[in-house]
Amino acid sequence: MTLNQIHSNNVIGVPLDCHTDAVLGDGDALISQNKNCALAVFVADCGNVGLIGDNGTIAVVHCGWRGLENQIIQKTVNELTMTGANEIYSVIGPNIGPECYEFGEEELNRLILLYGHKARSKTADNKASLDIGYCIERTMQELNVSMVFKVDDCTKCSGKFYSYRHDATPKRQAMVLYFN
Ligand SMILES: [Zn+2]
Repeated sequence: MTLNQIHSNNVIGVPLDCHTDAVLGDGDALISQNKNCALAVFVADCGNVGLIGDNGTIAVVHCGWRGLENQIIQKTVNELTMTGANEIYSVIGPNIGPECYEFGEEELNRLILLYGHKARSKTADNKASLDIGYCIERTMQELNVSMVFKVDDCTKCSGKFYSYRHDATPKRQAMVLYFN
């Protein structure tokens, strides 16, 4: 199941009787305690995170810069903790790298207030850029979430993934999490 992604911090809980092909509304994270239930978000440059609680609760998160500013990862981890998870593990999918992600100063300064100055990086041609991967990693460390797996390749320049900024493709990667 998935959702209509709107760069928000809406975390949507999956109902127990949910059909597998359901679209559950407007939001950017899905959380579920159901067994045999696959959760998905779709991305082509934005950050994407899968979260697995030791109580069997799972969540997937779509987070571009607006999601980082809205702190949707923090909110989702918090909701996972409220379901009774003690240990939380994460898998981090590919996003656009800072060398390819020129970013406006005003928004960058707001994100630096939340994630520190290492959120600021430089593009290959020396312009200000945002390091989405750093912001995600720092969030995991601050919230004590273990990183099990992280893809470091840039979606735009590695040639391995769909990238909206590379060629305006309508195609997306999916971050899918399944628990049985
Ligand atoms: Zn790149």
